[in-house]
Amino acid sequence: MTNRVFNFYAGPATLPLPVLERAKEEFLDFSGTGMSVLEISHRTKEWDKVMTDVNTLARELIGIPTDYEVLWLGGGASTQFYMTPLNMQVPGKPMEYVNTGGWSTKAIKEVKLFGEVKVVASSEEEKFMYIPKNVVFSEDIAFAHITSNNTLYGTEWAYLPSVPNDVPLVCDMSSNLMARPIDVKDYGVIYAGAQKNLGPAGVTMVIVREDLLDRVPEQTPTMQKWKTHAEKGSMFNTPPVFPIYMCKLSLEYLKEIGGVMAVEQMNVKKAKVLYDVIDTSDGFYKGHAREDSRSLMNVTFTMSSPELEQKCVEGGTARGLIGLKGHRSVGGMRASIYNAMPIEGCKKLAEYLREFQAENQ
Ligand SMILES: *Cc1c(COP(=O)(O)O)cnc(C)c1O
Repeated sequence: MTNRVFNFYAGPATLPLPVLERAKEEFLDFSGTGMSVLEISHRTKEWDKVMTDVNTLARELIGIPTDYEVLWLGGGASTQFYMTPLNMQVPGKPMEYVNTGGWSTKAIKEVKLFGEVKVVASSEEEKFMYIPKNVVFSEDIAFAHITSNNTLYGTEWAYLPSVPNDVPLVCDMSSNLMARPIDVKDYGVIYAGAQKNLGPAGVTMVIVREDLLDRVPEQTPTMQKWKTHAEKGSMFNTPPVFPIYMCKLSLEYLKEIGGVMAVEQMNVKKAKVLYDVIDTSDGFYKGHAREDSRSLMNVTFTMSSPELEQKCVEGGTARGLIGLKGHRSVGGMRASIYNAMPIEGCKKLAEYLREFQAENQ
């Protein structure tokens, strides 16, 4: 394919070309059924195999222990902002959050509808440029919540906060799940919208420790209980079949290229290509994130004027480097370089940024 650009959008984001090609090949006749995957019933053995495969792959690639459930839900990661307290609240116990950006802020707004919330640390005062250091959560709280990668501001946790033994840590990993190895046992719950690093929009992966499923109050609406979906293998109702199928293809591809460890090594290299441009630009490009908090997934930077930034974005577009405009809350530019962005894309962008600096300094 000659007209395929490098897509730096933050989400929905680029998918591996072999995954898209595979979907195209299978689109009209899925698994010899004479139907598209969009048309077949989710109660068929062909669909069952997709669910089994996607779960097996996710468990294997992430390393999910058997006492955790994997759920595939609709509604986006934003739905988990309220499903988390709905399923995890404990009467009389506060919930503690760290505010590291726009998505954390939204999660905090929702949890406040449910009970007492403490924001134990925040970098809001300094435009979310960093991840607070030495974060410690309290004893005797219902749960602790962090956002592992801050998609808008380009910061990422480089350490695990201190959480008392019996307190479950909940993590919004929408923009860095499967970008690097994690130990699932460090968490009670992990959730991630698929459209950054996993697959297309329309499905959210939730990994939840079994014992936590019983916390939910009985009178909670059926669809809003994680337990409902856990008991029915994410098929209590019609699941988002196409996004789940696309996630399956993308996980197969991830396995083929060596899994999460191999991808992490690539991600480190990719990010270095771009941060090196920023660091050697004599201030022409100013990184938004502090060095110790830099994200491997979203590289954010600003320039001396919005006009120059716009010119740079437009010049990128003309070269097939798409989606470089920063989020409106930060301004400037943002290159989202999730798992599916090849290193060639980062090198092309680095080359362009160096040229742009030489011409516009
Ligand atoms: C994109 C994103 C979300 C929101 O995801 P939706 O699926 O659009 O609701 C939440 N958290 C983080 C960290 C994100 O990057």
